[in-house]
Amino acid sequence: MSKSLPSRAENYSEWYNELVKRADLAENSAVRGCMIIKPYGYSIWEKMQRALDDMFKETGHVNAYFPLLIPKSFLSKEASHVEGFAKECAVVTHYRLKNDPNGHGVIVDPEAKLEEELIIRPTSETVIWSTYKNWVQSYRDLPILMNQWANVMRWEMRTRLFLRTAEFLWQEGHTAHATKEEAVEETEQMLNIYSEFAETFMAMPVIKGRKTANERFAGAEDTYCIEAMMQDGKALQAGTSHFLGQNFAKAFDVKFLNKANQQEFVWGTSWGVSTRLMGALIMAHSDDQGLVLPPKLAPIQVVIVPIYKGEEQLNNIKSKIDPLVAALKKSGISVKFDVSENQSPGFKFAEYELKGVPIRLAIGNRDIENGTIELARRDTRVKTSLPFEGIEQVIVDTLEDIQISIYQKALDFRAANTFDVNTWDEFLVKIEEGGFLSAHWDGSPETEEKIKELTKATIRCIPLDSQEEAGKCILTGNPSKQRVIFARAY
Ligand code: AMP
Repeated sequence: MSKSLPSRAENYSEWYNELVKRADLAENSAVRGCMIIKPYGYSIWEKMQRALDDMFKETGHVNAYFPLLIPKSFLSKEASHVEGFAKECAVVTHYRLKNDPNGHGVIVDPEAKLEEELIIRPTSETVIWSTYKNWVQSYRDLPILMNQWANVMRWEMRTRLFLRTAEFLWQEGHTAHATKEEAVEETEQMLNIYSEFAETFMAMPVIKGRKTANERFAGAEDTYCIEAMMQDGKALQAGTSHFLGQNFAKAFDVKFLNKANQQEFVWGTSWGVSTRLMGALIMAHSDDQGLVLPPKLAPIQVVIVPIYKGEEQLNNIKSKIDPLVAALKKSGISVKFDVSENQSPGFKFAEYELKGVPIRLAIGNRDIENGTIELARRDTRVKTSLPFEGIEQVIVDTLEDIQISIYQKALDFRAANTFDVNTWDEFLVKIEEGGFLSAHWDGSPETEEKIKELTKATIRCIPLDSQEEAGKCILTGNPSKQRVIFARAY
C-alpha cells in the first residue's frame, strides 16, 4: 500500500504536487516547465473540452486551426502586445542539425539559419488577424466567430503542473465584428459561458470581474476574468475574455466596408481557458485522501467492487451486477465493474478514492443474501448499506447531489473566507490569513503596485456585480467609488 498524501494543513503545496502525481494526472517532463498529461488526467481534460466546445458551438462559434509558428515580425505589429509577450517567447532560429565534427552528438547547423526567425505562438492574435485581413472586405463577411483548440508556449520561470506551465493546452476564441457594441457583447457572453462552465460542470464558484489596467491582456482595451478561491484561500484566475477594440485590426490593417459604404476598422475579441482549469478543479475540491471530482467531469462516475471468495461467489455477484452496469450505461453513466484479481478490495477502495470516483459500490456474499449493496460517496466519505432494489435511481440522484453539494461547499468556503476590510492594519493582518479581501482602492496603478509590493496581494478583479459605494482607498485614503477584490494568487 502506498503511503498517504501529505495533508493540506501540513503542506498545501506538497499536497497538490503529490496528488497530481499519485492520482496519475500528470508528471514533469525532460524539459523544465513542460508536462506530460497522463491518460487519466487527459480524460478529465477531454470532458472539459467537450462541454466547453458544445457551449461554444451553441453560441454560433466554429473551430479552425492556425499554425504553431509565427513570423517574428508579426508580433511587433501591435506595440503593447509585443511588450507583454516578448519576455516569454521561444524563438526558432535554425531548421537543421548536423553531426558535431568533434564527435559530440549533433549541433545546430550554422548554415541552416532562418532568414526570418519564428516565434512559437504564445497566443494567436497576430497570425489570426493577419489572416482576417484577407477574409474581411465588407460587413457581409462579419462577424467571424472562430475558436481553436491548440497548445501555446510561454517561457514561464516559476512553473507548476497544470497551474502554470511553459507549454499548455487551451482554446482561444478570436472574433471579429462590425460594431463596438457587438464586440463588447461577445466579450461578455464568453465570460458568462466560462462562469457557467466553472459553476455547473466544475462545481467551482467564480467571481466575474474586470482586470485593472495593470493586469490587462497585452493588446486589449478591457480584460474580463473569472476568479476562483482555492482551499488555501489563494485566488486563481480561471479564464479571461478580452475586448480588443480595434487594436489588432489597426495593427494588421483589417478594414471593412460598412453599410454606409465607408471603410472602417474591424472590432475584435479573444478569450481563453487552459489546462490551468485542471489545477483549479483539483485545488477547489480535493481532500487529504485524494481527488474529489464533480460527477459531470469524472471519467469514471461509479465504480463497483466485488468482495468474494471463489468463483461461485463472484458469479453470483456478476449475475446481479451485470444488468445494473448495462442499465447505468444506458442512462449515460460511466461505470466500471472492477473484477480484477490482482488487488484486494481495500487496495481498490483507496485507489478509487485517490482518483476521485464520485460513487463507489461494494457488494459481497452477505449483500447477495440480504438483497443489499453498500454505497460510498467520495465527497462526504459516508458509507450506507442500501436495498439493491432501486439502486439505479439512488445512483442517479446521488450523482446529482454530489455535484450540487461540492459546489455549495466551495461556495460556503469562499463566503467564510471573504472579508470586507476597511483599514490598512486590518488588511495587513487579514492578508496573512488568506482569502479574498474586499476593499476600496483609489484606482491608480501606483497604489495597486505599492500594495502588491508590501503584501504580495494583487487586485484580482473589479467585480461586475459590486455596488457603487463611496469610500477611502485602503492604502492612500484617497476617495474610491467601489470595492475591489484583493488576494494572493497562483
Ligand atoms: P491570457 O491569454 O493571458 O488571457 O490567458 C488565457 C488563459 O490561459 C487564461 O485562462 C489563463 O488562466 C491561462 N494561462 C495563462 N498562462 C498560463 C500558463 N502559463 N499555464 C496555464 N494556463 C495559463
